[in-house]
Amino acid sequence: MAEYYNDFFGDFGGRYVAEILRSPLDELEKEFLKAMSGSDFKNEFNLMAREYTGRPTPLMFAKNATKALGGAEIYIKLEGLANTGAHKINNVIGQCLLARQMGKKRIIAETGAGQHGVAVAAVCARLGFECRIYMGEVDIRRQRPNLFWMELYGAEVVPVKSGSKTLKDAVNEALRDWASSFSHTHYLLGSSLGPSPYPDMVREFQSVIGKEVEDDIKSRNLNVEALIACVGGGSNSIGFFYPFLEKEKPRLIGVEAGGRGSAPGDHASRMGGLGKEGIVQGYKSLFLLDEEGQVQPTHSISAGLDYCGIGPQLASLGQRGRIEFTKALDREALDAVRFFAGHEGIIFALESAHAGAVAMKMAKDISKDKAIIVNMSGRGDKDLFILARELDRDNWIPFLKEEVAQYEE
Ligand SMILES: *Cc1c(COP(=O)(O)O)cnc(C)c1O
Repeated sequence: MAEYYNDFFGDFGGRYVAEILRSPLDELEKEFLKAMSGSDFKNEFNLMAREYTGRPTPLMFAKNATKALGGAEIYIKLEGLANTGAHKINNVIGQCLLARQMGKKRIIAETGAGQHGVAVAAVCARLGFECRIYMGEVDIRRQRPNLFWMELYGAEVVPVKSGSKTLKDAVNEALRDWASSFSHTHYLLGSSLGPSPYPDMVREFQSVIGKEVEDDIKSRNLNVEALIACVGGGSNSIGFFYPFLEKEKPRLIGVEAGGRGSAPGDHASRMGGLGKEGIVQGYKSLFLLDEEGQVQPTHSISAGLDYCGIGPQLASLGQRGRIEFTKALDREALDAVRFFAGHEGIIFALESAHAGAVAMKMAKDISKDKAIIVNMSGRGDKDLFILARELDRDNWIPFLKEEVAQYEE
């Protein structure tokens, strides 16, 4: 079996799906391995990464933050400068090129907050795919601007009205579509989870982040103590960590959403002992489940970290101890957004700010000749409405009222 394809990672992973989905997953696996074995696919991927995404993304020395915190040098991988504002586009380009290789004409995807959906809609516009995005009705209400962007790119967005009307219901709806459309449709899953071969495929396409960082570490001769990334499903972290997984150093630190606290429903941390082994949406991993084995509600101020399960490879690497997991609270993420905006002139996405918050806590205890690298998986423009409500509420209420009044004139 090729090195790209693992199927199981320790106890986790696998392909637990209805009979009908076996053949499209087999086909996908075959095509993925074929794409990875030659140079044509990689050349196309690299070309799009360069001229459409804007790769390589910079590794920035955060000089002012380093000075203010008084310890290790802090470096920030500015993945948020990628087109559409986050790392999601790396995986989307990879899977869309694969879909074209397979002769598919149509792309379907789920989206939670809408970041993955926006990247899918954009790349489909560029490559000429018909595009349908499933999004929970509740999420549409919470993330209205992203619906607007997806539609502007020409995607059809289907509101999902079943279950809790959020991400997991959108995944179910997309799988239902795929079961009857796979002859001409590719299902573009957005994180490093789901049935195999998705975890391998998504990691492979996201590993461009880690490879660029590895080159920068060498060319600048950095003495790196730790890499820090936020963990929702796990795609930005596994891509960032990938080149270092088989080495002993640096420390690899995954940051989950601590939300409002550790009560059920108040957070999305699966690795701190709260997650239980289960099989959900086609793969085995650690999930937040209730007594009866049902998926528990989760909470995070950052929609991208607000998910019940974690990618199987990360769960396994956590159990083995290669990746250390910790969490940051909503409040700490907000503080980190403010800190890096004020000191460095960059706005972290709320997801990525969880990693920034942990860097702020760690830096002072690490000596000044060492470096820590934070992956800023996305930029915070998308969080305008949430940040305004949390940080500048009183000024925004009159502004929003005036906006509505103008609409109604
Ligand atoms: C979606 C998203 C995440 C979480 O997803 P992963 O698969 O864990 O990377 C993190 N950061 C940003 C900016 C996102 O849009």
